Amino acid sequence: MATPLRVLVHGGGIGGLTLAVALARRGHTVEVAELRDELDALGVGIIQPSNALHVMREIGLLDDCLKAGFEWEVLTIADPTGATIAEIPQPRMGDAPSNNGIPRPALAKVLGAAATAAGVTIRFGSTISELTDDGSGVDVTLSDGSTGRWDLVVGFDGIGSPLRGRLYGDRFAPEYTGFANWRVTVPRQPRVQGVVMSTAGPTAKALLTPITRDLMYLGAVFAEREDFRPDPERAHEQLTERLSAFSGPVAEALGAIPGPEAVVYSRISQVTVEEPWHVGRVVLAGDAAHASTPHIAQGAAMAVEDALVLAESLDSEDQVPAALAAWEARRRPRAMWVQRMSRAVLKQETGTPTTPEEDELLKIGIPGSAHVLVKAY
Ligand SMILES: Cc1cc2nc3c(=O)[nH]c(=O)nc-3n(C[C@H](O)[C@H](O)[C@H](O)COP(=O)(O)OP(=O)(O)OC[C@H]3O[C@@H](n4cnc5c(N)ncnc54)[C@H](O)[C@@H]3O)c2cc1C
Repeated sequence: MATPLRVLVHGGGIGGLTLAVALARRGHTVEVAELRDELDALGVGIIQPSNALHVMREIGLLDDCLKAGFEWEVLTIADPTGATIAEIPQPRMGDAPSNNGIPRPALAKVLGAAATAAGVTIRFGSTISELTDDGSGVDVTLSDGSTGRWDLVVGFDGIGSPLRGRLYGDRFAPEYTGFANWRVTVPRQPRVQGVVMSTAGPTAKALLTPITRDLMYLGAVFAEREDFRPDPERAHEQLTERLSAFSGPVAEALGAIPGPEAVVYSRISQVTVEEPWHVGRVVLAGDAAHASTPHIAQGAAMAVEDALVLAESLDSEDQVPAALAAWEARRRPRAMWVQRMSRAVLKQETGTPTTPEEDELLKIGIPGSAHVLVKAY
């Protein structure tokens, strides 16, 4: 598009801020409406696989991410005592490193600083109150009372996306998988130089993920009732009970949990918007459109890919609706593949019966997925 656009991004999470940076650096005017009062994030870490790092390089933030995180190349499969079963080198996308573990608050800080430096206005504590799309623009009133007319409104507002509700009602509500993720940040053990995935029996798995020189996180998934919440007084003990089959590094990590408040508990849900991801000039992206389970660590990677590809599609098309259609044609097959693969791995790891299609996907599995996803998007 030759003319600079006015774009409102609803949600200043990983995808929304990546889009804001990519668009502002192309000369578009961008505002972000973010519900929270500041750019904090859950105090745990996240893996940026090579395809996500490729996006960070494209928007000029690769070095900042690597500086704030812990770069790693080899996935280690271990037994319950921590003894190595296999070491699997991870692929690279172009010359981006294969993986970076990073604390979520550090990633939010890198993205937020870059957005502000690029001229993006971030309106904290605000959300969309009213929205009218008349075909040639979208009139929006935010909860802080500000009003504006936008060429494009992007819902990067996460798995619970209020904008999705506004567009589609409750047709595509998050579906709870029956499983939940327990995470806790502890001191990094020197032997944890990349993700160490330990399994005990067919269905118990614990992951150690380095996120800085000094920190790593321990993560594990278990079947939990939808209304279950960890006991605030003894959440660390509840996690320790669930991981009782492990000794070695996992047991050592459990022993390093400072107290129950350190445990972060997230129910795992998924969302698939089965109609077009855009209605007129309003579009959903990232988790709002296609949240997957975290089993191949690709949710945020898909969100940042969505962001970059959307910026590229707006470059190459003359009209916003055409750009949105071109964008979705590129994004949907890949995001849906990630969702199906993630769900298949969840089922495999939890002993849930799989379909023949999932059995085919599982021949590729976690290490193979990384190879599939470093191909161009
Ligand atoms: C346990 C777990 C582990 C994971 N590990 C990984 C991993 O290692 N690697 C990976 O790539 N992915 C991982 N993911 C997935 C990843 O966290 C998400 O896919 C990613 O954060 C999606 O980015 P997003 O920008 O779409 O949404 P989010 O990052 O969720 O951002 C949404 C933003 O919208 C804001 N918002 C919400 N409502 C409103 C509103 N009404 N108005 C304004 N703003 C609003 C929120 O405050 C938030 O800032 C994991 C997920 C889970 C649950």
